[in-house]
Amino acid sequence: MTARVLDGKAVAREIYAEVAKAVDERIASGRSRPKLATVLVGDDPASAQYVGLKQKNAHSVGIDSEDHRPPVNTTTEELLSLVDQLNRDESVSGILIQQPTPKQIDMSRVVVALDPLKDVDGFHPINAGLVALGLPGGVEPCTPAGIVELLARAGVRFEGANAVVVGRSNLVGKPAALLLLKRSATVTLCHSKTRDLAAHTRAADILVAAAGRANLILKDMVKPGAAVVDVSTNWFDGRQVGDLGPGVEEVAGWLTPNPGGVGPMTRAMLIKNTLQAEARRRP
Ligand code: NAP
Repeated sequence: MTARVLDGKAVAREIYAEVAKAVDERIASGRSRPKLATVLVGDDPASAQYVGLKQKNAHSVGIDSEDHRPPVNTTTEELLSLVDQLNRDESVSGILIQQPTPKQIDMSRVVVALDPLKDVDGFHPINAGLVALGLPGGVEPCTPAGIVELLARAGVRFEGANAVVVGRSNLVGKPAALLLLKRSATVTLCHSKTRDLAAHTRAADILVAAAGRANLILKDMVKPGAAVVDVSTNWFDGRQVGDLGPGVEEVAGWLTPNPGGVGPMTRAMLIKNTLQAEARRRP
């Protein structure tokens, strides 16, 4: 079997088209245009590139943006003051603080200071709590939401499926498990202390690999026909690879390319969250 491609770039394009249509409709009916405020502390080139892409994606669908670049030695208090300013700014729908931030910044304080309605990353404890409880109104974090959306649009069946997530971070693994559970998959969450990882992954109809370890998931650890999402961005011999070993594409039924799978979906969900943030504040 050669796995069908879970094409993150193509699905992201679909989402941008849907958001662009919704933004056009808002403007045509006299409602407000969404705006994304990005904050990059310092001038790390890779982070600057990510922020630039997010702004470009916003503009491509008619969402405004503004960019804040406080210097690398910015203190937590100074960043909190910028967050407060953006929270109060009626024209700002969503606030994105590019991570990682410099070491001196206490991000746990900064995330809690965000207006939960403007938390387009879905990191604020109120949003994380609503998502964990399965209650409406929570902002779903972009990478896990992108994973589930990619699977859903490919027609992968969640209800009753065995879903195995490898990695339990607050950023990816844990919320991905919760979103799969919400769709009635039977979810197993694996991590570095899991005994016999292969026994779990071999039972997975849906396998989400988010460990950040190249070659962790070998071909014989994948159930034939499974839908496999390779989230990780490891660097190996100067190129991006995920967690999958060679030949997984011969066994899996569905597979994300890496790059070109989850990364584009993550950015698309950020843009969708920005529209939804504006729609929630000013329907
Ligand atoms: P993280 O915080 O380092 O978490 C990694 C998780 O994997 C941990 O829970 C860890 O277990 C688990 N793990 C590590 N080695 C393992 C092993 N040998 N067996 C089983 N589990 C193992 O990383 P993250 O932030 O979740 O990100 C995961 C990967 O996704 C990274 O490569 C990151 O770059 C990538 N990523 C991609 C996107 C995207 O848009 N494409 C977005 C976010 C992240 P313990 O908890 O026990 O340590």
